[in-house]
Amino acid sequence: MSVDRRDFLKIGAVMAAGTIAPAISGAAGQDEEGASSKNLWGMVIDINKCDPECTACYDACRKENNVPHFPEPELDIHWIRKIKFKQRGVPNAEERSMPAMCFHCEHPPCAHVCPVAATFKRADGIVLIDKHRCIGCRYCMVACPYKARSFVSKHVEHQPGENPESPIRMHGVVEKCDLCVHRIDQGKQPACVEACKKTGGGGMVFGDLNDPKSEVSGIVRSSRATQIRADLGLNPRVFYLGV
Ligand code: SF4
Ligand code: SF4
Repeated sequence: MSVDRRDFLKIGAVMAAGTIAPAISGAAGQDEEGASSKNLWGMVIDINKCDPECTACYDACRKENNVPHFPEPELDIHWIRKIKFKQRGVPNAEERSMPAMCFHCEHPPCAHVCPVAATFKRADGIVLIDKHRCIGCRYCMVACPYKARSFVSKHVEHQPGENPESPIRMHGVVEKCDLCVHRIDQGKQPACVEACKKTGGGGMVFGDLNDPKSEVSGIVRSSRATQIRADLGLNPRVFYLGV
């Protein structure tokens, strides 16, 4: 079953999305700082393997990165979301879901609009925010077509039992998924991917798009993988199967 353009426009109530197109794998960028351009980190999410009721990736992300939950939807902070949808025009269509996060675009408009260069891209393709530079203007939130960013509008105390490796949350700045860069730099997988694997579903595959032998680059090369809103030309490094 595939999701047509209108289905993605419906999903767009939560995430701006509409056109899907064959995946294009990009070369490592040249304008990044830090890390090694030998690697280009990316992910494939197979929504055929994603149980709409499963929250393993979402829970793992919140735990790993101490992401707080605010009950007010307009204030809540999300690094990863589970977007639920049904195929339009199909009677009794089953409910499907897709996890969505920052897609670590090759050409990130969030970085281009940042007036203080707080958002930047590493040599390995990971798009990060320097929270000490961020002035909270939120231009990047407007520029991101995937609604991947959140503004921290409330002070959050450090909670007992939180992950000590995660930096203290700063109030008045913008946040988003950083692909668990602290884990990647230790040779580990992002927490969401590890949690998904533990469920047995195996709906998330993470790896080096520059390595032709990696599972992730093999899937991307297979042309079954698609990018959300590929027409925008941002070349997201998160790909989907089954949409
Ligand atoms: S998904 Fe949004 S926040 Fe992430 S790199 Fe692309 S434009 Fe920036
Ligand atoms: S909110 Fe922060 S990261 Fe976003 S554009 Fe403004 S200064 Fe840059």
